[in-house]
Amino acid sequence: MNLASQPPSASSARTAFVVGAGIVGICCAIELRRRGLAVTLLDRLAPAEACSAGNAGILAAHGVVPIGLPGLHAHGAAMLLSRDSPLVLRLGSLHHAVPWVMRMLRSANEPQVHRTATAMKALYGSTVARHQALAAEAGVPELIRAQPGLYVHPEANGIDLAGGLAWQLRREHGAQIEVLEGAALREAEPALSPAYTRGVRMGPMAHTVHPQRLARAYAALAQRLGVAVVRDELRALQPPAGGSGPVQLLAAHQHHTADVVVLATGAWTAPLVRPLGLKLPLLAERGYHVTYADPGLELNHVVSDIAAHVAVTSMEPGLRIAGTEEIGLADAPPDWRRAEVLHRLAQRMFPGARLTQGSRWMGPRPGLPDSLPAIGPVPGVAAVWVAGGHGHLGLTGAPHTGELVARGVCGEPLGLAPGAYSPSRFMGSARSR
Ligand SMILES: Cc1cc2nc3c(=O)[nH]c(=O)nc-3n(C[C@H](O)[C@H](O)[C@H](O)COP(=O)(O)OP(=O)(O)OC[C@H]3O[C@@H](n4cnc5c(N)ncnc54)[C@H](O)[C@@H]3O)c2cc1C
Repeated sequence: MNLASQPPSASSARTAFVVGAGIVGICCAIELRRRGLAVTLLDRLAPAEACSAGNAGILAAHGVVPIGLPGLHAHGAAMLLSRDSPLVLRLGSLHHAVPWVMRMLRSANEPQVHRTATAMKALYGSTVARHQALAAEAGVPELIRAQPGLYVHPEANGIDLAGGLAWQLRREHGAQIEVLEGAALREAEPALSPAYTRGVRMGPMAHTVHPQRLARAYAALAQRLGVAVVRDELRALQPPAGGSGPVQLLAAHQHHTADVVVLATGAWTAPLVRPLGLKLPLLAERGYHVTYADPGLELNHVVSDIAAHVAVTSMEPGLRIAGTEEIGLADAPPDWRRAEVLHRLAQRMFPGARLTQGSRWMGPRPGLPDSLPAIGPVPGVAAVWVAGGHGHLGLTGAPHTGELVARGVCGEPLGLAPGAYSPSRFMGSARSR
């Protein structure tokens, strides 16, 4: 079952609850409200307090590379066991993380990777224009900067533009790529350590200089459009018996009803859909950032070290280094050794920066093992939709996801083939969480 084959039973919906006021839920609420539904945005926290608060801010129009690439099998085990590695398993969550990694490795084959890249491009390719339009409507156009990204590697021959599958995918999907070497690299990004001798500038691209302020401005826009924002924690859903009638939301403080419910609950989604018969292998791909309030420099690009899998962004709150991937449960305590790894990387990349007053943060990326989100109704429960699992690209994909959800709920044409994002794509396979 997917969005297209779903009977348009939700199209008569008049009331909607969007659960989760992260960037994805906020965008879903806006788009549902634009179509005339009475919308409530429910979250146990204020808007954009969870993963959407502290990301790297990149609007990755060329985000077409899944994390599971062919070859990962070979160096993956060593990576997972190294303390400084960009990809680690959270020890306390191994019984969840190991099956997730096995699924990710199963999807790391070339035909699948090409299909995934096509689906990623269809969802993410329009991100810059969508965010620019939303930010303008929300009154914060200054929070979006259109600038190419700069990709570097500590080894001179570390960027395999000719043979590397990741670069092949980006090129195939329209990325404009410019190689910068020696003096040209110095000129492009003077603060970058001279130890980096070769880089790739890629565009068109953009980033936000304050992900949390941007998401909160979108939430304020939603409220201006008439969305009610309610603080409560959803405990369970009761779909209508016999398939028609409102859904009951059993929340900690109050019970609610709605014609349609959208679960945009990020890394906390799997336990909410499991009682509805959907086993979604959604785990937290936990990432960290360190933000330096007074770095004494402003970058010309978002600079990514592709060996370390980190991105460094000049933002309103300061210079932010963000990245790492720790696969586990969303609510496990942060392992601040990951932030220390980021701090050492920042020192290596920008030796002249004032890297003091660093504030640390951990965010649980909602991750599915094939690097695509789940967008669509819960199989067999037409009135409950899932919108989550965007992993590394939730900021990038939120506006388009909001539009797809609202179109699907209202029975409008979607404008893309939705099967790749179907929540049901994991059903029937033995291992899921
Ligand atoms: C270090 C790092 C860097 C990143 N960089 C980028 C980047 O450059 N570009 C990009 O596109 N993406 C990036 N991401 C990914 C991006 O931040 C996430 O994909 C995105 O924020 C997910 O948004 P979301 O709305 O799905 O989830 P969240 O923002 O986590 O929101 C989910 C919300 O649901 C609420 N909730 C959950 N369960 C319940 C319940 N039962 N009842 C009520 N409320 C509930 C939570 O309180 C939370 O507010 C990065 C992530 C990290 C960690």
